[in-house]
Amino acid sequence: MTDELLGRHKAVLPDWLALYYADPMEITHGEGRHVWDAEGNKYLDFFGGILTTMTAHALPEVTKAVSEQAGRIIHSSTLYLNRPMVELAERIAQLSGIPDARVFFTTSGTEANDTALLLATAYRRSNQILAMRNSYHGRSFSAVGITGNKGWSPTSLSPLQTLYVHGGVRTRGPYADLSDADFITACVADLEDLLGHVRPPAALIAEPIQGVGGFTSPPDGLYAAFREVLQRHGVLWIADEVQTGWGRTGDNFWGWQAHGQNGPPDIITFAKGIGNGMSIGGVVARAEVMNCLDSNSISTFGGTQITMAAGLANLAYLVEHDLQGNARRVGGLLIERLRAITARVPEVKEVRGRGLMIGIELVKPGTEEANPEAASAVLEAARREGLLIGKGGGHNTSALRIAPPLSLTVAEAEEGADALERALRSIQ
Ligand code: PLP
Repeated sequence: MTDELLGRHKAVLPDWLALYYADPMEITHGEGRHVWDAEGNKYLDFFGGILTTMTAHALPEVTKAVSEQAGRIIHSSTLYLNRPMVELAERIAQLSGIPDARVFFTTSGTEANDTALLLATAYRRSNQILAMRNSYHGRSFSAVGITGNKGWSPTSLSPLQTLYVHGGVRTRGPYADLSDADFITACVADLEDLLGHVRPPAALIAEPIQGVGGFTSPPDGLYAAFREVLQRHGVLWIADEVQTGWGRTGDNFWGWQAHGQNGPPDIITFAKGIGNGMSIGGVVARAEVMNCLDSNSISTFGGTQITMAAGLANLAYLVEHDLQGNARRVGGLLIERLRAITARVPEVKEVRGRGLMIGIELVKPGTEEANPEAASAVLEAARREGLLIGKGGGHNTSALRIAPPLSLTVAEAEEGADALERALRSIQ
């Protein structure tokens, strides 16, 4: 059955559409932190549909809100007043920490970042963008054009000029062996130097923890230090919170908050988990920045009632059940457990992360060399153990990525860690 679907998939979909596993699976349904494939196998989901299932699969509160909304109206376009969209925008504006915030809804993270680039370049009248090495911001013409890793930015001839800043990758490059404080000093000096050589760029776009880049994280404080430099040079800061938002990192609601209280970013982009799988993306910015566009615009499906209903119910559940706190507690236990398990595994270079966003970097034993083959083997072995995990993309396929729904229980964290331990042992 799956083979037949795979044949049809390959005949009609692009070759570059990423598909996990040598023998790809069809997922047919889910509940809580589990999903089932078409052959009836049950899996503990430690990747949550690439961090899109933020609360839980088939969460009754979201299902009810969506079906009730579908029974009233699915979509009327934003040409008419739309109550669920206003309500969700109010919640997100308040949670963003940005004063006098305005919210624009899109249907994906890519389109959110595209919009942020449109805003920043229009506001600053510059087509120069700063981005981090090893970053990923989506797959549109402009988002791929600024992505700092040729492994996943293949062909865009976007006219944006992008300059890549040090600080995205901690484990490799000239600053690899520095202490946290010295690393920040070196990256800030590099940024100062760069800004001394070029016309003022419109913005720096950065993921507080790099998602597709293998959950790599700079030391706390880097972005606060960057922001001070950027402000002096009149450069906006866009925080791409597509993966790090909504409490996923446990300690904070947004990833940028780990870097200190030097004020919120000028622009935040979001997507992934807010709709629990319904396609919601968006941009939050100060009114002055958001309103700089000289046009009368819409996104046809951005803000549509059915997705907004899902977002409202999902966000309400997240806040009422303190899933950020759960991510901190259960994620903390899981990271500790994974560190203990992997201490004796020679392929594991480090277990890193925050909350329920955990990366495991694999190397060839006894070396610093990336080990994508081991990562693929662990992914396959974990599947055989009934566990779904992710791995990094592009050139970072040697990192395993763990990002379960934020309602993960302690028992499930232990069950997943045990399964991962067996998977790691099986590749020895
Ligand atoms: N930004 C980040 C940090 C991402 O991880 C992704 C997707 O993985 C995107 C943007 C693009 O989002 P989407 O795939 O919803 O277009």
